[in-house]
Amino acid sequence: EKFKTGLEKTRNSFSEKVNDLVARYRKVDEDFFEELEEILIGADVGVNTVMDLIDELKFEAQKRNIQETKDLQEVISEKLVDIYNEAGETSPALNMQENGLTVILFVGVNGVGKTTTIGKLAHKFKQEGKSVLLAAGDTFRAGAIDQLEVWGERVGVEVIKQGEGSDPAAVMYDAVQAAKARKVDVLLCDTAGRLQNKVNLMNELEKVKRVIEREIPGAPHEVLQVIDATTGQNGLQQAKTFGEVTDVTGIVLTKLDGTAKGGIVIAIRKELNVPVKFVGLGEKMDDLQEFDASQFVYGLFG
Ligand code: GDP
Repeated sequence: EKFKTGLEKTRNSFSEKVNDLVARYRKVDEDFFEELEEILIGADVGVNTVMDLIDELKFEAQKRNIQETKDLQEVISEKLVDIYNEAGETSPALNMQENGLTVILFVGVNGVGKTTTIGKLAHKFKQEGKSVLLAAGDTFRAGAIDQLEVWGERVGVEVIKQGEGSDPAAVMYDAVQAAKARKVDVLLCDTAGRLQNKVNLMNELEKVKRVIEREIPGAPHEVLQVIDATTGQNGLQQAKTFGEVTDVTGIVLTKLDGTAKGGIVIAIRKELNVPVKFVGLGEKMDDLQEFDASQFVYGLFG
């Protein structure tokens, strides 16, 4: 249900176009596939992925002797789910520690929804009965610390911080010490998102990771990259660059509610080779959903 309402824009555009196409072409033929290809590319599924998908649909149509377009519609959904799932690991589950502290690092360019996602996840963990602490590791961008504190207050979790311009690694050190002393379950760490200087950013993230790792062997347990779905293929390129700067274990795709091109989920899974663990479907605390390919695709068509 959440997927259904959150994906309204993509539903209204993409799904209606497919439905309209199926109604216009009764019989499966070359023109039908060509138009379908355009619709899929228009939904940001990604050119390479669309080519593969169309090939498989043609193959499947022949194999099962499908001649009516309406009979092919279900196969389109099936294949979209397959393509996502076959790209590799699909489990959205986070690598949570059974005993002791779990540390999650958030990376991504400014404005993609990093702070909001940290707030939403903090809320989710609290609801599960876990204790949470936030680390204000973006000491570079003016207002980033305040913004995280607003979320901290909203959700009812404490933020470990220093002043603007301070060393992010020092903030992380403080945060890890506080988390250990208070026996907190989860520490969620914000980081800076300026991609203008790749080398600086890389050094900063490495230093932050080293401090965490030194204090807690095996941590950080997840490095989640936040990507804004409304930036489409541009966002995907930016994400690739970020992937060169640090190892990412999962994607959070935000603002899916704000785009008609939700197919970007599939392009991201295929091209970044990292599973999408959560999607953002709005600005509120509860608008974060664990990602599941079949729920997503059936949310589009169902
Ligand atoms: P940051 O700079 O990466 O920390 O980005 P913010 O967390 O400040 O988010 C930037 C803007 O995007 C804010 O106005 C958020 O309310 C908005 N935002 C974040 N996630 C979502 C989402 O899933 N859906 C929508 N519609 N807006 C979002």
